[in-house]
Parts: sequence; structure tokens; C-alpha cells
Amino acid sequence: MKKVLVLEDESSIRGFIVINLRRAGYEVVEAESGEEALERLRENPDVRVVLLDIMLPGIDGFEVCRRIRAGNTKIGIIMLTARSQEMDKVTGLMTGADDYVTKPFSPAELTARVDALFRRAGGETETADAGEISQPPFVLNLRNRSLEKDGARIKLTQVEYSVMKLFMENPGRALSREEILDKVWGRDYIGELKIVDVNIRRLRLKIEDNAQSPTYINTVWGYGYKWGF
Ligand code: CA
Repeated sequence: MKKVLVLEDESSIRGFIVINLRRAGYEVVEAESGEEALERLRENPDVRVVLLDIMLPGIDGFEVCRRIRAGNTKIGIIMLTARSQEMDKVTGLMTGADDYVTKPFSPAELTARVDALFRRAGGETETADAGEISQPPFVLNLRNRSLEKDGARIKLTQVEYSVMKLFMENPGRALSREEILDKVWGRDYIGELKIVDVNIRRLRLKIEDNAQSPTYINTVWGYGYKWGF
């Protein structure tokens, strides 16, 4: 069963999300506070994707995200943001989320986002990769989907792993942001290109010697990114 957790304190919005995800074939676990969401996750370790509202009584959605990520890099996390919230502030704060959806959203948009992340989180049968890609100082292990730099493990989310795999399979080739979005998030993804930049900014913090002047993930101005030394 494809299991998703929805954290939203407004019952009408939560109901709308839950109904649409159930229609799309998901089993949905509901929570109306951050504390309850963390409790439900402990009870349901098979949840693969979580949707987190940000403004909540008690701990907020960002704090819930941080606490989930502290113990779990595999789970997919989507933040539910309000139109009034400044995107820069939101993206700057989303240290551990994979994606965000801006309210109000359509059922199609919501399920497309969840579907895309669910695939990335390995919830569906995925062709088993084998072996590794070695490009010193990096080694990407395709079997257990992990990255090492100089022999030290770097913790990646599933989306970050997919971006790294795309880069390491295409060394020296400029990849447009559209292509990265297509390959990593899926062609049916209805989202903004900005999510690519958000994830790459975070990836640079993890893998570059100095994220301010990256040497591995290079920016190709006005186009996209290039993996190469
Ligand atoms: Ca709220």
C-alpha cells in the first residue's frame, strides 16, 4: 500500500487533500498538529511521503521537517505553503524538504507532486540498479543509493540522490534546468523550475569544499548546471 501522511490543522483543507489522495490510490494517515504527525510516523514507519503544512499551533512545519530529517533521509517531504508567504523565506528555510506546493492547489497538481516524490522515494517497484559510479573524490553507490566523498558518507535525500546520479552519468555536459526537472521529478510534474535551484543549493552545501565557489556543480548561466571538475 502506498502510504502518505498529511499534516494540516485546517480540517477543510486536510479533508480536501485526503479525499484526493485516496482517490489517487494512496492510504492516508492524518495529523492536525506537528506533535501528532511525529507520533503517527512512529506508528507508521512505512509512510513514504509526508505533506507538511507550515503554520500550525505548537511546533511549526519546518520544525517537524527538521525532526523527521534528523532520523530519516529516505522519506519524501512536501511543504504546503501559503501564497502570502514569501518564497525566498520559505525556500531558505526548507532545509530538508524535497518540494513545496503553494495553496490553493488543484487535485491534479497535488497528486502529480505526490506521485513524483513517491517514485523517487522508492515506493513503487523500481528497476534495481547495481554497481557504482566512481568519479574521485566521489563514489555513488547505486545499490544502496548512497554517496561518499573521500570515503566519508554524505547523507542525501532521495531527490538529492537522483540529482547526483543524473550529474554523475553526464559528466561535463551542461544540463538545462528543464531537463533536470524532467529527469528527476518526472515529465508529468507540474511545478516550478525553482525547485531545481533549491535542491542544488542544498546539495552544494553537502558536497562542495566551499559552497560559495562551487567546483563540482557548476552554474551554466541562463541555462542550468554542469557536473565537472
Ligand atoms: Ca495551518
